[in-house]
Amino acid sequence: MPTQYANGAKAAAICDRCGFRYALGKLKSETIRGRKTSFLVCTECWSPDHPQNFQGMVPVNDPQALRNPRPDTGMAASRNVPNQPQSPLTTETNTPVGTEDGDSLTTE
Ligand SMILES: [Zn+2]
Repeated sequence: MPTQYANGAKAAAICDRCGFRYALGKLKSETIRGRKTSFLVCTECWSPDHPQNFQGMVPVNDPQALRNPRPDTGMAASRNVPNQPQSPLTTETNTPVGTEDGDSLTTE
């Protein structure tokens, strides 16, 4: 014999979260991670299950590495223009610091 419950149209209940009194029919069940908890809460306390609670439940395949990558090796060389002050391909030799005016760093 199945369990039978009364209609409870005028039944009062206490919200499990805030403790205020409401009609039993106005309380909603709370869910966390898609499962109902045993809490019955009022509409002010009830909030939908946050999508972040489902983290790890859905398999995610988001690889970052490429198979057989072919980077553009000529791009770095094409950006360096010869005989420019900041280019590493400049033919001028840099003079060491402190020897530009002929003075040596060591004093005699
Ligand atoms: Zn409440």
